[in-house]
Amino acid sequence: MYKKKCPDCNGSSYSSYSKGQWTCPYCEEDLTDVEAVMTDDNE
Ligand SMILES: [Zn+2]
Repeated sequence: MYKKKCPDCNGSSYSSYSKGQWTCPYCEEDLTDVEAVMTDDNE
């Protein structure tokens, strides 16, 4: 999974795909230019 932190509302957003359009689910800020961080979710 990939995680992006919204610079506007500080909310964490997760996706399985880091490319393409990425919009904050909380405030609808465009996070496309925010660097994605890979997370280890091996549950
Ligand atoms: Zn946001």
